[in-house]
Amino acid sequence: MRLTFKELKDEVQKIVPKDIPYTVELEAGNIALVTPEPNRILATDGLLAKISHKVKRKIVLRPDTSIMKSEIDATKIVREIIPESAAINQIYFDSCYREITVQCENPGEAVGRRGVNLQQIRDQSGWLISVERTPPLVSKTVHDIRGYRHAHAEERRKLLKDFGLNMHRPVRPGASWARVTALGSYREVGRACHFVTTNESRVMIDVGVNIASDTDPMPYFTAPEALPMEKLDAVVLTHAHLDHAGMLPVLFKYGYRGPVYCTPPTRDLMLLLQTDYLKVGGSEGKRAPYSMEDIRTCMKHVVDVDWDETTDITPDIKLTFSNAGHILGSSAVHLHIGEGKHNIVFSGDQKYEKSWLFDAANTRFPRVETLVIESTYGASGDYQPSRQEATQELHDIISRTMARGGKVICPVFAVGRSQEVMIAIDELFRSGTVKPVPVWLDGMIQEATAIHASHPDYLTSSLRKSLLKDDGENPFTSEVVPTC
Ligand SMILES: [Zn+2]
Repeated sequence: MRLTFKELKDEVQKIVPKDIPYTVELEAGNIALVTPEPNRILATDGLLAKISHKVKRKIVLRPDTSIMKSEIDATKIVREIIPESAAINQIYFDSCYREITVQCENPGEAVGRRGVNLQQIRDQSGWLISVERTPPLVSKTVHDIRGYRHAHAEERRKLLKDFGLNMHRPVRPGASWARVTALGSYREVGRACHFVTTNESRVMIDVGVNIASDTDPMPYFTAPEALPMEKLDAVVLTHAHLDHAGMLPVLFKYGYRGPVYCTPPTRDLMLLLQTDYLKVGGSEGKRAPYSMEDIRTCMKHVVDVDWDETTDITPDIKLTFSNAGHILGSSAVHLHIGEGKHNIVFSGDQKYEKSWLFDAANTRFPRVETLVIESTYGASGDYQPSRQEATQELHDIISRTMARGGKVICPVFAVGRSQEVMIAIDELFRSGTVKPVPVWLDGMIQEATAIHASHPDYLTSSLRKSLLKDDGENPFTSEVVPTC
């Protein structure tokens, strides 16, 4: 039975000891316990888990603003407590989540024995704090998104609350049902767009560009189910490729102001690709379907969800992303509808084989009644060479060309494919088969690679390890791969 916001607060009140001050706030699908005394809540064994179990939602603890020092003072505290040996590169503030992120070369030094430094910073500054290793390549996109989010923190906190309140609206009467409508990519390539309607909710999965047509580039937004656009409850993205996320800003252009759920890498890559889409279209003299302002508005409404983390997205739908193995952050979307009576999986683009960059797609779901699966370029006579065969062929072409003093030009997609080709070339040079020669990358590939380096948790474990140690084995910063 779904709780109203008031009932939810009453349930929490029954569990939290009377003498601890707190308020309950909503952060989209999560519930935040905001308190000026976080240590007392943490000292009460299993309190958060107990609340979470009772209300069946993720509970996060946030400090009350009354105990939070100014950013200038908090920065001083961070610099005083974290030793110089940690080598801090950046300190990011996000006052929406009331959290400081310290980027440094030696996270172990920053954290201190059993996290003693972080505890001290929390106690003295009032802010939450996390530490991460500075990635080997710095992404301007990731840096800008952090700055942008912090600049709009208050607005974002209000949006997250509104998204949360929308999930607690009164239950609609009548029987429960679910329907999937095809708004793009069915019996055609591109403009992926699925629409899920239930008796309670309206959710769009992917909002892709029809790459094949300049005159008809959008999904079927005018289908009766999808209108009016501003009344959608949520948008969910499988991955950042333009044919899945390139038309998303159009929704914001026409008034949608609801949440966009995606993984953090999808958020970053989508900003890069949508911006490039406008740039390329502009240089070819095409009329843009949306503006940079629409992209920025969209960014404010993104709610990050990591793989395998379940979150409520509407009154009757829970969402879980899992690895799709296709590009950085790409996900299959599992929707748990109406207390689990019906479960739908949208595969997104998938790869079932482990690649240089990613683990193979997850194919195990707790329960699925309806599976919507992509098959973009597969035809009955097609033959997909194995990774080994493809790598061998690339190695052969490069070796042959180098031997006769030629140059190799690789026209590859900036996101995903180019990083794989870089790793294959790096491996060829390291093996000694071919004498290393300069490899030049264009700027967009450089930025896409930096976004990969910023999300080590979304890569294979071996690549993650080589990214995190500084022993020259890192294929993204290999000396044989300079950039222009
Ligand atoms: Zn794709």
